[in-house]
Amino acid sequence: MNNTYPFVNGPLPYEYDALEPFIDEKTMHLHHDRHLQTYIDNLNKLIEQNPALKNLSLKTLLHVWPQLPARLRIPVRNNAGGVYNHRFFFEGIAPPCGDTPECALSHAIEKQFSCFDKFKEQFKSAALSVFGSGYAWLVSDRGRLRITTTANQDTPLIKGLSPIINIDVWEHAYYLKHCNERAAYIEDWFNVIDWPRANERFLDIMRGA
Ligand code: MN
Repeated sequence: MNNTYPFVNGPLPYEYDALEPFIDEKTMHLHHDRHLQTYIDNLNKLIEQNPALKNLSLKTLLHVWPQLPARLRIPVRNNAGGVYNHRFFFEGIAPPCGDTPECALSHAIEKQFSCFDKFKEQFKSAALSVFGSGYAWLVSDRGRLRITTTANQDTPLIKGLSPIINIDVWEHAYYLKHCNERAAYIEDWFNVIDWPRANERFLDIMRGA
């Protein structure tokens, strides 16, 4: 995935229907091809009009927006955040592969939350608690696993947290299939978490990469 201007909406790493029956094909088209595309287009337009931003990476934009001129702060925060959060979400899910595999991350989760089911319960209630639109995240907080939430398109990066897993709980992420049943969507999403990818992210953070 390219990390500097001009940003490109790369293809999903799986087919649109690959997450059925948990996340439906129509939602994946809408979410990736329209919602993410809009964030990418708006971010590119914004940078085009403000060439001083041209050489900043996506992550840099997400760290420096509070220091930008006032008129740029909100648009950079929302659009760079929208690109980062959506890419992280789409790259973090995959066709269902059955049980949660044993890995360094699963062991760390069991250690931190006492067992996987406790983690799942806490993660679900965090994702349900997001009022309006936002995300729930599993992050590393200086080496310690923690569940957190963000509003709108904010990211945990600005708080110095390192993301491992995120779920998009904006209604556009589930409304077509799950209607207003966010809890049912969260339950389904648990089946398509890409654990090998999450474990790679976790190991990279632990290695300080
Ligand atoms: Mn979304």
